[in-house]
Amino acid sequence: MGKKIFRSAKFILECVLDVIYAKDDICPGCDESIIDNQQLCSNCISKIKVCNEIMLLEKEIEKTICYTFSYYSGIIKKLILNLKYKSDFKSGNILAELLHNYVVKNNLQFDCITFVPSSKKALKKRGYNQSEFLAKKIGARCNVKTIKTMYKICETKDQIGLNKEQRWENLKNSFRIRNNIDLTGKIILLVDDVITTGATSFLCCEQLIQSNAKQVIVLSVAKGRI
Ligand SMILES: [Zn+2]
Repeated sequence: MGKKIFRSAKFILECVLDVIYAKDDICPGCDESIIDNQQLCSNCISKIKVCNEIMLLEKEIEKTICYTFSYYSGIIKKLILNLKYKSDFKSGNILAELLHNYVVKNNLQFDCITFVPSSKKALKKRGYNQSEFLAKKIGARCNVKTIKTMYKICETKDQIGLNKEQRWENLKNSFRIRNNIDLTGKIILLVDDVITTGATSFLCCEQLIQSNAKQVIVLSVAKGRI
C-alpha cells in the first residue's frame, strides 16, 4: 500500500515537473535543452543543409517550378518523421516556420496554397495529412488561403522499394481535382513533404494546370533519394 502511494506521488511529481520544465525547452532535434525561446537549438539549426537547386520535374511541364527546402536527412528527416508518424505538431510547426522563411527569402508569390492529398486509408490511419498541416500553417503566416483542391482516388502501393518507372506507373491516375474548384488564372503553391522522383508533384501539377491554373509552384520540405 505504502509503495503504491509512493509510486503515485512520484508519478504526480513527474507530471508537475513536466509542466514546470515544459518540453518546449527541449530541442526536438537532439533532446538537449534550448535557451532563447528558440524552437530548435542553434547546433541543430546550423546542421540544416539548405537545398539551393531549383528542380525541374521529371517530365517537365511548362508553368511549373519546383523548390525544395532541404535534403531528406538529419534533423529535417527527424522532424518530418515526427510530424508524419508521431503526430508531433511541434515538429510540424518548426517545419512550417522554416518553409515560410524560405518562401519569404525566395520572394515566392502566389494566389492560393494547396497540398498533395493523402489517400482515404492514410487519412483514416493517421487522422491528418502532414502536407495539409504544413500548407495551412504557411497559409496562415502568409495570409493566403489554403484550398483542398484534389483527392487521391486509388490506394497505391507504398512507394518504398519501387524504382523510378514503377513509381510513375503506381501513381498514374491517382489524383483528381475536386468538384467546383475554380483555379482559372491562379498561381498556386503546392506543398509536399518529401520529393523523390517528382512523380507525385508532377501528377498533381498536371491536374492543377488542366483546371486552368496559370502557374504551379511546388514547395517540398525535402529532397529524398530512392
Ligand atoms: Zn538540437
